[in-house]
Amino acid sequence: MIAEIVSVGTELLMGQIVDSNSAYISARLPEVGYRVYFRQTVGDNLERLTQTLKLALSRADVVITIGGLGPTMDDLTREGIASALDEPLILDHDLQAELQEKFRQRGYPMVESILRQAYRPACARPLPNPNGTAPGLIAEKGDKAVIALPGPPAELIPMFNDHVLPYLRERAGGEPGVIVSRILRVCGMGESLVEDRIKDLMQGANPTVAPYAKTGEVHLRVTASAPSTEQAQAMIADIERQIRERLGNAIYGVDDQTLEGAVMELLWARGATVAVAESCTGGLIGHRLTEVPGSSKALIGGVVAYSNEVKMRLLNVPEETLREYGAVSEPTARAMAEGIRQLMGADFGIGTTGIAGPTGGTPEKPVGLVYIAVASPSGTRVREHRFLGRRSEIKWRASQAALVMLREELL
Ligand code: ATP
Ligand code: MG
Repeated sequence: MIAEIVSVGTELLMGQIVDSNSAYISARLPEVGYRVYFRQTVGDNLERLTQTLKLALSRADVVITIGGLGPTMDDLTREGIASALDEPLILDHDLQAELQEKFRQRGYPMVESILRQAYRPACARPLPNPNGTAPGLIAEKGDKAVIALPGPPAELIPMFNDHVLPYLRERAGGEPGVIVSRILRVCGMGESLVEDRIKDLMQGANPTVAPYAKTGEVHLRVTASAPSTEQAQAMIADIERQIRERLGNAIYGVDDQTLEGAVMELLWARGATVAVAESCTGGLIGHRLTEVPGSSKALIGGVVAYSNEVKMRLLNVPEETLREYGAVSEPTARAMAEGIRQLMGADFGIGTTGIAGPTGGTPEKPVGLVYIAVASPSGTRVREHRFLGRRSEIKWRASQAALVMLREELL
């Protein structure tokens, strides 16, 4: 089955809001056996909306619209669907009564325009919206269906999950097939190296294996299409096993797992603690570790040691080290990691120092030069990196590299 998504709203065309709803729906549709070949965005204009819907209906089995179901004059989706399906727009008396009751209960004045939301194309049935006033719609005509969802994500997402997914699954009923994806998350290995190792596995048509380069890591999306979820999962498990044989420990997690989460789990498993001394990352590593619920079991604390003064006073970085090698140097990173480990009595200490740019680089020490050290019970390791990108990317990559190094230490 083929679905097409039509996002309605001039604010989308103007770039004032990002179309997160489409991305959400696109990501969920494969679960119930639908492919998306096209997505369209159109402004709040009845003629162009109708035209857009007609085009979508000409090439998809199901068209899902987002937004434009509110009470104001620029909310035209009901009219657009009626006109694209060549159906009259009728007043639904039950909806009218429901809306009046909703307003009465909350003690809000009933503005006449609200009643626009009680209209629907004659062939449509309403979808309840417990999180707002605008009902959704499912309009079936011939072998096509148009599903209209409200724009606010807090209304759209529950309505999509509770009503639309079951409807679509049922509708696709006869046709075999669900599409299931799993993401394998790889760290400490560049995209081309990952690709080189699994090139032959990427040739398959089902499951497919596709790499996506993220900042500081690579995601491999494995997608299988099969008659049932169980079968698709078995196909994925088989290819996942082969990928794991090739990439080993570089796979730190799957799906929504984060690198900081994976590192935390390793720390917990060993009953180990960590402390961070951050210069160029400015607290980002500490922030990322504290994003993990339960991080207090392993993270003791940290220091943002930006100035030489703080590096010396709090972390015991020797003045001669700073004078001789500079703040951005291997010995300074080492001294920072060892200093924070000592200061906080942690099992592991992390030190970062580097030049995040865009200013401050020199020919010998260019922007992107970062030293990362991990001090552990068995000694201290330091690694030099030369990251590319803007300031925020360099900081992120440095935090990523520090977590990768700590993970290596823990494995
Ligand atoms: P309302 O009753 O609030 O007017 P509506 O169904 O008419 O809802 P819109 O007016 O199109 O929807 O959008 C309302 C708000 O929902 C937007 O201001 C925006 O914050 C959010 N929104 C709309 N479309 C999208 C989208 N495609 N992705 C993310 N958010 C969206
Ligand atoms: Mg609106």
